[in-house]
Amino acid sequence: MHYVTRFAPSPTGPLHLGHAYSALLAHDMAKAQNGSFLLRIEDIDQSRARPEWEQHIYDDLHWLGLNWPRPVLRQSDRLPIYRTALRYLWTRGLLYPCICNRRDILAAASAPQEGAPLHGPDGIVYPGTCRHIPDPRQPLPDSALRLNMARALAVLRNRPLRRPLCFTETGAGPAGETGLIPLSPETLLNGVGDIILARRDIGTSYHLSVVLDDAAQGVTLVPRGRDLFEATQIHVVLQHFLDLPTPTYHHHRLIRDDTGKRLAKRDDARAIAKYRAEGASPHDIRKMVGLD
Ligand code: GLU
Repeated sequence: MHYVTRFAPSPTGPLHLGHAYSALLAHDMAKAQNGSFLLRIEDIDQSRARPEWEQHIYDDLHWLGLNWPRPVLRQSDRLPIYRTALRYLWTRGLLYPCICNRRDILAAASAPQEGAPLHGPDGIVYPGTCRHIPDPRQPLPDSALRLNMARALAVLRNRPLRRPLCFTETGAGPAGETGLIPLSPETLLNGVGDIILARRDIGTSYHLSVVLDDAAQGVTLVPRGRDLFEATQIHVVLQHFLDLPTPTYHHHRLIRDDTGKRLAKRDDARAIAKYRAEGASPHDIRKMVGLD
């Protein structure tokens, strides 16, 4: 099997040391196996993505000594593909439209009978206000669409040729989870819930796009930050429905600032560009993130 890793940044700000670590790790892992390292630009959120940030990504990664095949896959070029997948899920009765905003969700989830709101990979677990099974013969609506998790799990349970719901972790989750990670239907139902698969403004979501793109690019190993460990269970469920292979995942430690906080996009202080301007070498960056 050809070994393929990827780095998939969003062009919404400067790349910082955390990105450098992720990209270098993905690159080194591919090279160690004589495999390929791919770059993907995750620019579905066109209200935040900027061409100049995309250019900075290329500049910083080249400066770090990374190379990748071209043309680079950009998510904004693949919106029709995401739509087709949504239509497929819709005709199987797995999606429903949702008109709730953040405030509605917080209010519904904080109602006294609900107890404390539960948090999942995408924030508060959706309390199900809009959940009803619409007629799947209707055309796919242009609204936000949620996965009906209870329905999804029931369909998967009753499939004749069912793959076990699990993935292989070669890094570690937040509690040290590693090796074969089985998914818990209970957690999917109550701790993940009906996640958004299409946002109204962009017509897709990170979860749907990442799953389709990793498969389209033949990615066999996904190295990414540990903060995405919980989201991986969503990705595995989608892979089952869309008949896509489940790659191996490698969730890596997060690079933190001096106060222990995870670096964020707005953390210009740790931007690769800043270190470059101050005369640091790519090797210095490797040392800073603990790779040399
Ligand atoms: N675009 C995502 C980010 O920048 C990548 C997530 C992933 O690697 O799956 O956080």
